[in-house]
Amino acid sequence: MGRYTGPSCKLCRREGMKLFLKGDRCYMAKCAIEQGRPAPGMHGQRRSKTSDYGVQLREKQRLRRMYGLQEAQFRLFFERASQKKGRTGETLLQMLEMRLDNVVYRLGFAASRKAARQFVNHGHVEVNGRKSSIPSRVLKAGDVVQVVNRPASRELVKPIIDTAESRGLAPWIRLDKNEAKGEIVHVPSREEIQPIVNEQLIVELYSK
Ligand code: SF4
Repeated sequence: MGRYTGPSCKLCRREGMKLFLKGDRCYMAKCAIEQGRPAPGMHGQRRSKTSDYGVQLREKQRLRRMYGLQEAQFRLFFERASQKKGRTGETLLQMLEMRLDNVVYRLGFAASRKAARQFVNHGHVEVNGRKSSIPSRVLKAGDVVQVVNRPASRELVKPIIDTAESRGLAPWIRLDKNEAKGEIVHVPSREEIQPIVNEQLIVELYSK
């Protein structure tokens, strides 16, 4: 499946918001959004009228890019969310947040979601005591994620955990820094999920 390999900051500029794709740089003055750089392309600074469809599409692209998913993967998550009870938009956000790669990122075991995906792929993580190398795995409340007990793996996370912790952890996870271990305390509520998107617009887009 094809993956976007271009500059990450260009995606944030296109969406006009910070998508936090580059780790530490996203918290620095060097961030392209902090510097007020316009959308890429010749007409990046031009404001044009946007149709309802355009607004919905932009919202979907924001969320999809934030979590680093390809269209087909994102659509699959949406389909799965729509089959569950409750509000589809909120369920979609909860499922995205509970992905193993995102939990690894939220726990501070990796500086970005992209790095977290690679970390999981490379076998540095176990879930409930068993190695798990599937970044898209959706976890449940009570699941425990731990960096495997190998010096090389533990060394990789040491400098990153402190930085992440100092920025504040998500309220729905509990971190044991010494054991490089985290637990999902509960499924995050909508208020506890950070993406600044209107998920209802995504539901409307896919319901057409
Ligand atoms: Fe986006 Fe991070 Fe680049 Fe800022 S530094 S534009 S938040 S990827």
